[in-house]
Amino acid sequence: MPATNIAIIGAGSVGATTAYAATLKNLAAQITLIDINDKKEKGEVMDLTDGLCFVETGNIKAGTFTDAQTADIIVITAGIAQNKDKPQSRLGLVKTNTKILKSIFKNIGKLKSSAIIILVTNPVDALTYAAQEITKLPHNQVFGTGTALDTARLKSTLAKRFNIDSHNVHGYVMGEHGDSSFVAWSTVSIGGIPANKIKSLTAAKMKHTEQQVQKEAYQIIAKKGATYYGIATTITNILEAIIYDQHLILPVSARLERYNGVNNICLGAPAVIGKNGIERLWPVALSAKEKRALKKSAKVVNQAIGKK
Ligand code: NAD
Repeated sequence: MPATNIAIIGAGSVGATTAYAATLKNLAAQITLIDINDKKEKGEVMDLTDGLCFVETGNIKAGTFTDAQTADIIVITAGIAQNKDKPQSRLGLVKTNTKILKSIFKNIGKLKSSAIIILVTNPVDALTYAAQEITKLPHNQVFGTGTALDTARLKSTLAKRFNIDSHNVHGYVMGEHGDSSFVAWSTVSIGGIPANKIKSLTAAKMKHTEQQVQKEAYQIIAKKGATYYGIATTITNILEAIIYDQHLILPVSARLERYNGVNNICLGAPAVIGKNGIERLWPVALSAKEKRALKKSAKVVNQAIGKK
């Protein structure tokens, strides 16, 4: 077991569930939970610690911001979440959560030069861009969960439609982790058959699938107040890829430079994830329609971060 030191900032629904999922996957060599709500942070750590004798390894502690100075990987889940009483776009959280992000890095102080930062807090693309600017770390070390969760939702939606296991669905949702995300159908294949060659997957069904994926977070929030199991498992998938240098291709929020028509923006795009974080972007060649969708996402995120 590699003794990776992981700090999770934010011990709310997403942060605590991520720590829990990491213990079940035996990734918790050392996890430090850090939250401004001291009581919540300590309570979660006590509860999580009770389960450690049933898993292979693990050490979880409640910490302070400066503990993250020695972390190999920092997962940022702190901030406000979407309103559970009325539908709220993730972009509506940008001002408050950027402010919180700045205060977090200020409180941490000096980071390890090799630290990998994974942004989860929404709007994740805008916050990834901000974190890259604040930390000045190489962009491959600072990235967001991007459209990895949306892609998981696409896989389960198509798996249900065709009554197959979701591992047999390949392809990516790309762009903003938000209302302008899109299914890059040119990358999608099911059991080796390209999606656009599957006759029963008509244009109308593709549209419906895409809308279902876009709506899912709103539906979950309306029903139970927040989403956390899906994202926690997505985060541990990314952690595993880093810890074991798996070179797994995942659509994370990465700084895109001269990429399929967009430039200098963080958006969800497939990237090879290994011990250095983003090892390289996976060069998918999008169709003209998909490039337009990516540009639309870039415009939306640029507006959110106050860039033209
Ligand atoms: P939550 O309200 O349960 O938890 C947020 C936690 O952040 C709280 O415990 C709060 O005390 C803490 N916090 C606030 N300010 C802080 C600060 N300055 N320093 C440290 N901790 C601070 O919310 P949640 O459901 O866990 O969601 C967290 C974030 O994750 C939200 O922005 C949500 O939209 C986002 N999210 C992202 C994805 C994704 O795919 N990227 C999926 C689900 C949720």
